[in-house]
Amino acid sequence: MAGRQLRAVLFDLGETLLDVGGATPDYATQSQRDLREVYDYVRECGHPVPPWEVFHNALAGLLFSQWRARQREGRALDVAAVLREGIGALGLALSPDELTECLRRHYRSSDESAMLHPDALPTLRELRAAGWTLGLISNSIWPATCHDETLARLGIRDLFAVRLYSADAGYQKPHPAIFQQALAALQVSPAEAVYVGDRLDADVAGAHAVGMRGILRVVPYRVEANAEIIPDARIETLAELPALLARWSATGGGMP
Ligand SMILES: [Mg+2]
Repeated sequence: MAGRQLRAVLFDLGETLLDVGGATPDYATQSQRDLREVYDYVRECGHPVPPWEVFHNALAGLLFSQWRARQREGRALDVAAVLREGIGALGLALSPDELTECLRRHYRSSDESAMLHPDALPTLRELRAAGWTLGLISNSIWPATCHDETLARLGIRDLFAVRLYSADAGYQKPHPAIFQQALAALQVSPAEAVYVGDRLDADVAGAHAVGMRGILRVVPYRVEANAEIIPDARIETLAELPALLARWSATGGGMP
């Protein structure tokens, strides 16, 4: 196993490192809230906005149709592109800076509600101190420019050598391309890497398909779908990770 020793740990973000408190708002509520932020900003800028329901339905319809068109092929939605296209289609001529601010406003509520699991920061620091290379792969409609500010505020951004979001990668988990892009950026092989996530399908099966180990972070209030997917390990807290990874390393990176 020389040269194939485990050396990198990649993480999912939502519900793996971030605590959503068991209460993910439903999609329609969240989508309306985020689009309302954009609408209010565009109106404040003095652009001749249509009534809210016209603006909302145009943008929400475009988001949904683009999401559906991409979903089947594992391609990712990039909300910045959708906002640009949808706002343009309404005949509103925003400057590049105004469009950038629209994206920030659309993301703002998600930024404000982001909270780390209490054991996330100490565990990530402990893994770094033990010499592990850390990475992040997240399915998100927002790009790194949005998420990086949140991660910096939470104190974890610079612990990750690579942070890859589906909006930037073009593909979403479990598509192999997003895992392979992150591994290439980290310059590690799949056999040298472990992925930690809270979904058996997107996270564990996605990691397995490219040859990485997959650890399931169990979410206590959820009944797991896709029970036929068997993770290499299950953890209930992130704090279990350093000892688990040390054990795998001690056995030469062989299967547990
Ligand atoms: Mg997740």
